Amino acid sequence: AAKAAGKSAYRTCTPALRESAVSRAELIADLRRAVDEDQLRLEFQPIVDLATGVVRSAEALVRWRHPRLGMLPPAKFLPLAEETGLILPIDRWVIHEACRAAATWRDRAPDATVAVNISAAHLRRPDLIATVTAASAGAGLAPRALTLELTESALIEGTDAVLDRLGQLRELGIGIAIDDFGTGYSSLSYLHRIPATELKIDRSFVARLGTDDDRAYATVEMVTRLAGAFDLAVVAEGVETECQHAAVIAIGCPRGQGYLYGRPDGPDTVGQNRP
Ligand code: C2E
Ligand code: MG
Ligand code: MG
Ligand code: MG
Repeated sequence: AAKAAGKSAYRTCTPALRESAVSRAELIADLRRAVDEDQLRLEFQPIVDLATGVVRSAEALVRWRHPRLGMLPPAKFLPLAEETGLILPIDRWVIHEACRAAATWRDRAPDATVAVNISAAHLRRPDLIATVTAASAGAGLAPRALTLELTESALIEGTDAVLDRLGQLRELGIGIAIDDFGTGYSSLSYLHRIPATELKIDRSFVARLGTDDDRAYATVEMVTRLAGAFDLAVVAEGVETECQHAAVIAIGCPRGQGYLYGRPDGPDTVGQNRP
């Protein structure tokens, strides 16, 4: 068993982790302490209303300030967190922190919203609703100020129980965004079933705008129209260049997110104008 564990440790170790000789087992032990020892951080990335340049919303993105490895991005620890179930306390911490931050935005931007990523594991849990309502109530944040971002792959496993849960969240006024839209199944029938309020166009399509890739342009245009027809909000993710910005505007996509408008950073971005 030790041998098997050693092998899988090697397989799942990223180069940085291997160099610093932190084993998978150690990293799991570290991750178990991360929430209690206050090592997680949230950054907020602005989501811009393209017509006005105003930031009325931001996405909360988690980072782990590891005591020896420094600041780790989600890709370095969320897969491990998902495998071990530690994603649940992490997700819970993120939801609470995001609600607390968003409650401070109201003075500057009364209709501000915060977007929080929710793992597939969490979506399968009946207590998701209790977690979310406790967090928003505890922070004094209206449920409509909160949007949960779910990926297509998390949604596709959608059992009836999951669909029920999404319906209940909607009834509470909480927004449901489909993240990285276009990279999963994007089936039209499932768009009819899922009570989504928003589509986030994956940045792989946005990245190819402004090149001579007509298909990328057509894809972003199609999703924007589809969202309009379904009465869903829509955000172009990963806008990095003025050229992509111009294309997103020409297509008529109402909101954008990306390094051009702002990198993930402190919570004060909301209520400001696009820099
Ligand atoms: P996502 O939800 O699609 O978040 C957007 C990711 O794209 C973020 O990476 C963000 O920093 C990055 N990004 C934003 N604009 C640009 C751009 O213009 N160019 C490029 N190249 N990248 C851009 P990050 O923070 O590393 O997060 C990666 C993924 O990890 C997220 O993808 C999300 O799926 C997951 N994640 C992040 N925070 C949480 C969390 O608190 N809970 C859960 N369950 N998942 C999270
Ligand atoms: Mg997201
Ligand atoms: Mg995304
Ligand atoms: Mg993404």
